[in-house]
Amino acid sequence: MHSALVGLEQRRRAEAADPSAPRDAVPRSRQRAAKPAPEPAATPAPTPVDEDGLPRLTATTGPLDGPGPVPQRQEGERFHYSGRTDEPTELEFPIERPEPGVVAVALVEATTKSSLSITPMVRTRTRVDTHSSLLYVASYHGRGRSRRVLAGDVTHLKVEAGRRSEWSVRLYAPTEVDELLGEREGFGETVLAVRPGDPTEVVIHAKSSSWHAQFVCGCWRDDDCECPSPKGLPSWFRTYISAYGEAMRVVTLPRPGLFVLHTDKPTDPWRLQVRPYGSGPKHD
Ligand SMILES: [Zn+2]
Repeated sequence: MHSALVGLEQRRRAEAADPSAPRDAVPRSRQRAAKPAPEPAATPAPTPVDEDGLPRLTATTGPLDGPGPVPQRQEGERFHYSGRTDEPTELEFPIERPEPGVVAVALVEATTKSSLSITPMVRTRTRVDTHSSLLYVASYHGRGRSRRVLAGDVTHLKVEAGRRSEWSVRLYAPTEVDELLGEREGFGETVLAVRPGDPTEVVIHAKSSSWHAQFVCGCWRDDDCECPSPKGLPSWFRTYISAYGEAMRVVTLPRPGLFVLHTDKPTDPWRLQVRPYGSGPKHD
């Protein structure tokens, strides 16, 4: 299914990738193998690091963020909240979500000449709560972008923006999000759907100063999830991991829900590989 999220991902890739080296093309080592062998050199050349067969990530090239403006809500467009200001501003507004009472996936973009934060709030007659920010941008970032899961109890968004700021928050239902299947590469924060099927696990290879990955259960009860372990899985399995720097880790996806990967920077690369639960080498 080609959702708006997929379209955005493709556009982002097109902007960021070197057009002469498309990301989804045949691996470079395989292309090289098809060429005739070069004449033997007098002194052996050092082996390029990507020909030892070990997993490595492709560095992102070019500017990640296009020069285009932050998208602003069009008339009649739903689930899109945006604005701009020249003066320091704090505002809070109620949100409508694509599927009431269910988590939403937020695509957040902003620019600022000073600083800007967007924070989910719970504000009802009996409860007031502040969740951790969806995005914080300072002038030295220039532009910021994040993809986050917005908890089902969030009722409002609070924007605190300094001078010359623009922001956009678009909300999607979990059913609109691209599915985590097979193998895929990308960079920055991502949220992918885990659809019904047998339990699987995802091998995450990421390179970021600080990153974490998490399975969000499709019961959407967050920490109150009491869903039973599927048959064949132990009573405890890993659904959250965090790491520093380049690392490879495995997270279990026991049932339908969402898979979330947070990286420190929007340019930090990653590769995901889904496999049946327990099918990997035991020493992972
Ligand atoms: Zn659950």
